[in-house]
Amino acid sequence: MSLPIVMSPTPTDVYEDPLDVMDEIDRLKIEKDATILAHFYVDGDLQDIADFTGDSLKLARDATKVTTGTIVFCGVHFMGESAKILSPQKKVLMPDLLAGCSLAESCPADKLAAYQQELRAQGRDFQTVAYINTSAAVKALCDWIVTSGNAREIIDRVPADKEILFVPDQHLGRYLSAVTGRPMILWPGSCMVHEVFSIQDMLRAKKNYPGSKIMAHPECPANILEHADIIGGTEKMRKHVAAVAEPTTFLVATEANMIHPLQKAAPQHTFIPVAGIMSSSGETCACNRCPHMARNTLQKVRDCLRDGKPEIVWQPYFAQAEAVLRRSLLEG
Ligand code: SF4
Repeated sequence: MSLPIVMSPTPTDVYEDPLDVMDEIDRLKIEKDATILAHFYVDGDLQDIADFTGDSLKLARDATKVTTGTIVFCGVHFMGESAKILSPQKKVLMPDLLAGCSLAESCPADKLAAYQQELRAQGRDFQTVAYINTSAAVKALCDWIVTSGNAREIIDRVPADKEILFVPDQHLGRYLSAVTGRPMILWPGSCMVHEVFSIQDMLRAKKNYPGSKIMAHPECPANILEHADIIGGTEKMRKHVAAVAEPTTFLVATEANMIHPLQKAAPQHTFIPVAGIMSSSGETCACNRCPHMARNTLQKVRDCLRDGKPEIVWQPYFAQAEAVLRRSLLEG
């Protein structure tokens, strides 16, 4: 007779009181001389224990102001890389090194290098502008890095006689091309979260909440953006709702954890996340949650503080990416 297989629980299966884990994190932060940075798309509990929260641009800049020896970056891999690149003397830890980004992955460095080579061989005179959601290896191949917060001013710095190759987000590129009037060669990448918002659900909600305003991230496709009252990155959304005194219902087309900082910034409003839709069945779903950001948990923050790993380790190509990042994000 074969014996039943008994599965022993993995550490993540063991229930721990979140408040106890938060206390441990507070203690370890002091003991290990660490500062926690958290993106607006991670779970609200993580945003609450962080020393700095924000969008990619704000956090990249905040990382350079950290005075402790260690940074714990609750976000995705390219964000930890940017923090390390801009603060090479710091130890940069990530709760989960596997927290990637579908958008960054849609533009691998070898494919971009080959495409740039092809364009040069055709005699095209261009500069490459990359959205910050790219790997450091891709940043090292680019002339400029933009975020949704600084894209317009950076694009204005590209000489008028140069073409622009914009990578990796085709929707953001199309939007920026329209607002700046600069034609762009677009890389066909996109974000798995921002691409799946249900236009039908959004318009139904708009009808059901008369007077409501649609706020959409420019990573959304054009069919969503054309109905939006406010288009902007997460920091712009936060500032916008804080500046509106009149209680308003906002339908929010970006990662659903963004509701947390919006509610904190402007509790007088009602925020409704726009639902995602499954392309296979057409049913609405929770696809407006980023599975990569969801890899960040309280337990993993505690563990990486305690163990001093996993760590973003300096790579030779970071030096070239550093020059581009500094010019784009830190120098006016
Ligand atoms: S929401 Fe999209 S762009 Fe942001 S980290 Fe997740 S996959 Fe990448």
